[in-house]
Amino acid sequence: MSTRRRHKALAIATALLIAGGLGALTPAAAGQQATPEADGPGIYRVHDAADRADELQGAGFDLVEDRAGDDLFVVGDAAESDRLRRAGFANSLEETVRAPGGGQRANNQDTYYGGYHTPAAQYAHLDEVAAAHPELTKLETYGESWRKTTGNGGHDLRAICITKLAEGDCARDPNAPKPRFFLMAQAHAREIATGEVAYQWIDHLVNSYGSDDAITKLLDTTEIWVVPVANPDGVDIVAQGGDNPVLHRKNANDTNGADCTGGENSQIGIDLNRNNDSYWGESGVSQNPCDQTYLGPKANSEVENTALQGLLTDLYPDKRDDGDSAAAPADTTGVFITLHSVAGMVLFPWGHDSAVQTGNDEGLRRLGGELGDILGYQSGQPGELLYDASGAHEDWLYDKLGVPGFTIELGDVDSGSCNGFLPEYSCATDYYWPQFKPALLHAAQRAAAPYQAPSEQR
Ligand SMILES: [Zn+2]
Repeated sequence: MSTRRRHKALAIATALLIAGGLGALTPAAAGQQATPEADGPGIYRVHDAADRADELQGAGFDLVEDRAGDDLFVVGDAAESDRLRRAGFANSLEETVRAPGGGQRANNQDTYYGGYHTPAAQYAHLDEVAAAHPELTKLETYGESWRKTTGNGGHDLRAICITKLAEGDCARDPNAPKPRFFLMAQAHAREIATGEVAYQWIDHLVNSYGSDDAITKLLDTTEIWVVPVANPDGVDIVAQGGDNPVLHRKNANDTNGADCTGGENSQIGIDLNRNNDSYWGESGVSQNPCDQTYLGPKANSEVENTALQGLLTDLYPDKRDDGDSAAAPADTTGVFITLHSVAGMVLFPWGHDSAVQTGNDEGLRRLGGELGDILGYQSGQPGELLYDASGAHEDWLYDKLGVPGFTIELGDVDSGSCNGFLPEYSCATDYYWPQFKPALLHAAQRAAAPYQAPSEQR
């Protein structure tokens, strides 16, 4: 595990190094201490902390969505390492980079950091695709970002529905003729490769209809919904860094974070993936507005989430009774995937507590395993593989409507230099997209009967 882990951490550090523009990689060789010059962001291995993730997040540490055995990983500097130690967490420098020494900055350009699309570019892409393929697409504006609602720039919140359009398709009506597969990316802004996978998926669908048998059949029988940027304000903050992307995770709502400094460990915003009204505040959250997992002042406080919930409630009928163990029926349709990074895992409810299984555990575990097999990833409940966290999007969707929801953590130990928050753009297009293409196709094909074994279908 340590060798595999080392590759991954090196890649993360390399990405941070690239992001920093200048600076030199400083491997944490045996006997070498974290020194004051290692003040730039680094990755610290927190030993035997897997059952203390809640405590770490509660104390405001920036947990990487990753785990190796019982060790967890925290982004921070030497001062954070000391703070970990004072809090009783043995830790060691995995890799570090020197403080960024500059780097190109860019504003409001179509792409940043070698080709990554800004929210504006993602939305221009939706418009281009819809104009070129009117028989296959319908655009949906489902709300406004926090900045837009407050008159400070911002964006509409936008989705595209892709199918061979027929009567009743792509309507905001839960009683739809076709089953629905929903893909969402960049709820966490800095997990930038996820947005590019969504971008490629859209192109693949519209460009393959009529020439690729599997895609043609899929679009004849299934609605594909895509939200390429669930947190556009946050991604704007990331992209403002240009060649030096800002490691911003949350949205841009600063009403609760007047004292946040803007440094890596003190950022404005609410963690959208901790804010949903499903076991809100139970696990994996911080109450401090400047922390990366700040859950927000109340459940569903954020417009990005309530707008998304409104869309999902219009797309899927409620198939599940209340309570942890109530099951949605076997004929439930639909699959929902939200993309994150970097653990290389397929995760399914319950995320709030891995000691509790859903009433659809067999079906969720089976489909999660199918996707994991295609991707070469582990699958399981978050707390089984990573750590518990409540208020996540897939927990909310399953909780309220009974639709099978998955977080897929992009990134894996075999991706070499393509790992980390900030893989080079070519990694997104040439490594992650080919890896995800068959998995997304399979997930979409399973939307007709997700809780049934594939052999029971048709
Ligand atoms: Zn994430």
